[in-house]
Amino acid sequence: MEECIFCKIANSEIPAKIIAESEKSTAFLDVNPLSKGHTLVVPKSHAETVLDLSEEDWCDMNRLVKDVVARIYDRLSPDGFNIGINMHKAGGQAVEHIHIHIIPRWQGDGGGSVHTIVHNPPQESLEEIHAQLS
Ligand SMILES: [Zn+2]
Repeated sequence: MEECIFCKIANSEIPAKIIAESEKSTAFLDVNPLSKGHTLVVPKSHAETVLDLSEEDWCDMNRLVKDVVARIYDRLSPDGFNIGINMHKAGGQAVEHIHIHIIPRWQGDGGGSVHTIVHNPPQESLEEIHAQLS
């Protein structure tokens, strides 16, 4: 994708604060950090969502996420993390190149949890939903 900013970062065409790399993924500091050490992990080849990734690229991204979390935990000593993906517009995806947010958290920082993203409980019973998904 010629105009994709995360492709350009992953291929070193534009500068970024890269903190770690693997064969297939790149981790760099978010330019608008929500907390100290807020990092994005992206695949080096373009993919919009997890559904567009090869199994190998998905596994590689997640190995790098683990490495980066360990590094942040060791060097910045946060009290916790939020780790997540915004998928499609409805899910808040702003750049159409999959990225995993690693957001270090500190006790009393005023933030919420994934439980505060949306409150839209289903009308259907859990049994109905289970039947649809299993
Ligand atoms: Zn891209």
